[in-house]
Amino acid sequence: MIVCAATNNAGKLKELRRILTKCGHTVRSLRELGVNLDPEETGTTFAENAAIKARAFCEATGLPTVADDSGLCVDALGGAPGVFSARYAGEHGNDDANNQKLLAELSGVPEEKRSARFVSAVCFVTPDGRTLTVTGECPGMVGNTLRGENGFGYDPLFIPDSVGLPNGSTAPNTARRSYAELADDEKDAISHRGHALARLEAELPDFLNKTND
Ligand code: IMP
Repeated sequence: MIVCAATNNAGKLKELRRILTKCGHTVRSLRELGVNLDPEETGTTFAENAAIKARAFCEATGLPTVADDSGLCVDALGGAPGVFSARYAGEHGNDDANNQKLLAELSGVPEEKRSARFVSAVCFVTPDGRTLTVTGECPGMVGNTLRGENGFGYDPLFIPDSVGLPNGSTAPNTARRSYAELADDEKDAISHRGHALARLEAELPDFLNKTND
C-alpha cells in the first residue's frame, strides 16, 4: 500500500520509512508529496495528537496516512516530558536543549529512580475517514550522560531494558547501551515505535476488510 508518513521530524520519518517498508508498504514523505503543514497538537494524550496529525495529513494528501505521536515518560518527573517531549526545553524539536534540560531535572537522582518509558501512539487514517489507533511502549531508564551517535531526540540518554538480536528475538540490555548506540534493527525490535507499528501491521488486514464492507 502507498502510505503518507505524516511527520515533519526527520528522525521519525527515517524510522517510519524503514519499518513500514519492511512490512511491504511504499512510504511517501510530506516533502515528496509537496505538503507543507504543521497542525497544532492540541491533544492531551499521545493518541489524540496522533489522530490530529493523521487526519490533517490524510485530508491534505488524499492518501492512507500514518502518524506517530510519541514521547518519553520519566517516573521521577511524574511522567514528564510526556506529550511535551518535542518542546520540553521551549523550542519545538531542539533535541540538544531537551536532553540538557532532562539531565538537569534528574541531576542527583540515583540510578534506581531514573526509570522511564518511551511511548508511541500510531494512528492510521483512510481517505474515507476511518481510523485505527495502536500503541507501543519501551521500558528503560535515563542515563547520566549522552552516549551514541545514532537516532534522534532523547536516544543518547535512553537506556532500554532490552535490545533486538539478529534472529529477531530480544535479549536483556546487559551492556546498558543507549538507544543511540543501537543499530537500526536492534532498536526497531524493542522500540516503542517498533512495537506500535508491529501491532498496526497485525491489525491492518482486518481493519481494511471492514473498511471495504
Ligand atoms: P512528536 O512529534 O510530538 O511526537 O514529538 C516526539 C518527541 O519525542 C521527539 O521530538 C523526540 O524528542 C521524542 N521522541 C519520540 N520518539 C523518539 C525516539 O525514538 N527516540 C528519541 N526521542 C524520541
